[in-house]
Amino acid sequence: MSHGHQDDQPSRLLADSLSYADVRGPVDAERAVRMYREDAALTDSCPDSPQCPQNPQTGSIYRYSLSPFAEWIKALLAVPFVLYSQPHGVLEDPDRSVDTLSQTREEAHRRYSEIFRDIEAMIDDHIAHQNDAENPFPSKLKLLVPSIGPFFTRLPLEAAFKFQDNKRYISSRRFVSPSFNDIRLILNSAQIMAVTTYGTLQLATFDGDVTLYDDGQSLEPTSPVIPRLLDLLRKNVKIGIVTAAGYTTADRYYARLHGLLDAMANSADLTPSQKQSLVVMGGEANYLFEFDSSSPHLLAPVPRQHWLTPEMAAWNEQDIAQLLDVAEAALRDCIKTLNLPATLMRKDRAVGIIPVSPEIRIPRESLEETVLLVQKILELSTVGRSRRVPFCAFNGGRDVFVDIGDKSWGVTVCQRWFSQKEGPHGVIKGENTLHVGDQFLSAGANDFRARSVGTTAWIASPVETVELLDELAELMGKKMS
Ligand code: IMP
Ligand code: MG
Repeated sequence: MSHGHQDDQPSRLLADSLSYADVRGPVDAERAVRMYREDAALTDSCPDSPQCPQNPQTGSIYRYSLSPFAEWIKALLAVPFVLYSQPHGVLEDPDRSVDTLSQTREEAHRRYSEIFRDIEAMIDDHIAHQNDAENPFPSKLKLLVPSIGPFFTRLPLEAAFKFQDNKRYISSRRFVSPSFNDIRLILNSAQIMAVTTYGTLQLATFDGDVTLYDDGQSLEPTSPVIPRLLDLLRKNVKIGIVTAAGYTTADRYYARLHGLLDAMANSADLTPSQKQSLVVMGGEANYLFEFDSSSPHLLAPVPRQHWLTPEMAAWNEQDIAQLLDVAEAALRDCIKTLNLPATLMRKDRAVGIIPVSPEIRIPRESLEETVLLVQKILELSTVGRSRRVPFCAFNGGRDVFVDIGDKSWGVTVCQRWFSQKEGPHGVIKGENTLHVGDQFLSAGANDFRARSVGTTAWIASPVETVELLDELAELMGKKMS
C-alpha cells in the first residue's frame, strides 16, 4: 500500500525540529526536577486544599499521570477525524474512491500535523514558564491540562506524528479515530527524538516485567531485546535495570536476567568499561548490583553505604519496619474483606500479596482497590504522616506490593552511580536519562515515578521495547554519522 508521505523520514523531520530548538534555548532541567518535588510536597502536605481532592484518581499518585495529557490530545484529534475521515468514501465507485481516499488521507494528515505542531509550541511556552522563576502565572498548557508536569526536553511532536503515521497509517483510517495507543507511541517517539537530538542520551533505565520480558518470566538468551541492549552499551550508554523485584542475593537476579548477563560475559567486543556500565537496581531503590564477569552470578552486590543518596541514608530502620507493619496489616485486611485468593509475602524492604497459586488471577479491580486502600492507610498513619520514608504501593498486574522508596530514587541512584564514575564532566541529568517501563497508569504506577527525575517512554510489551530500541538506535546512528 502506498502512503502519501513516505519521504517524511526521521532525519529530515528532526532537522526541521532542530532548527526551531535553537531559537528557543535549552530546558533548565535541574529546575524541572525541583518543581516536581516541590509540587509533590505541596500536594501531599495539604490534603484539604482544592488542589488535592480526596478522590484517589486526582490525588498525588495520579498527579502527573500522562493520561490526562494523552486524553486531551486525543480529544483535539477527534475533531479533524470527524470532519475529514469521510467513511462513506469506501462506498463510492472504486475508480473515484482511490482519489478521494488519498485526498482525505492527505487532508487528515495535514490537520493532525498542525495540531501536533500547535501542541509542540504550547510545550515550548510551558518550558519557558518553567525556566522563568520570576513568572508567577501558569502557562497556557497548565491552564488547559492542570495535571501537566515539568518537561526535561522539548518534544518534537509533529515529527514524531509523521514518523508514527508512516508506520501506523493513522491518517488513512476512516472508522477508528486516533487512539490512546497512537498518542502514547507518538509521545514515545517524540521523547526518543528529543533525547538523541537536543542533548545526549547517557543513561537508559529499564523496568523488568512486561518491559524486558513477559510478566513473571525472565530474560532468555533468545530474547531480541538482548542484542539491542548490548548495542547501547557499545555506544557508551549506561544501563540500569530498575525493577521492583526485590531480592537480596545475586543468584535471584541472575535467574531473571541470565540471557543478558551471559551475553555480556561472552561478548568479545565490549570493553571492560562498557561491561561495567550495567547495574541492576532491585526492590525499586533497595539493592544495587554491578555487572562483574568474575562473580559467580555475574553480579557483584554493592554495599548500601556506597550508593545511598544523603536523603536515603537518613531513612531510619525503625520507620521502615513500622511502615511495613502498617502495610502488612492493611494487606491482611484486604485479603479478608475482599476474599482474595492471595497470600502475604513480607520481605526486608517490601511487603506484598501474591496469588495462592500461579494459575490464579486476582481480578484487576481487587488489585486496584487493595493498592488505593493500602496507600491511603499508609498516608494517614503516624509513620506515613511523618513523611520521613517514601514508599510505593502498586498493582503489579498479578500482585500488589508496597516497597520502601520508589523508582524515582532507583533512577536517581543510577544517575549518581555512573556520574561519580565519570568524574565532574560526566554528570547525568534528567534530560540525559530515559526510563522505559509499562506501569504508568494502573494504581501506584511505579514506572511513572521515574518521570520526576528523567524522561520516560511508556511501552505495553517487550515487543514494543524492541521497536523503541530500534528507533533509538536509528536516531543515534544518524546523529553519529
Ligand atoms: P517490575 O515490573 O520489574 O518493576 O517488577 C514488578 C514485579 O516484581 C511485581 O509485580 C512482583 O511480581 C515482582 N516482585 C518480586 N519481589 C518484589 C518486591 O519485593 N517488591 C515489588 N515487586 C516484587
Ligand atoms: Mg513492569
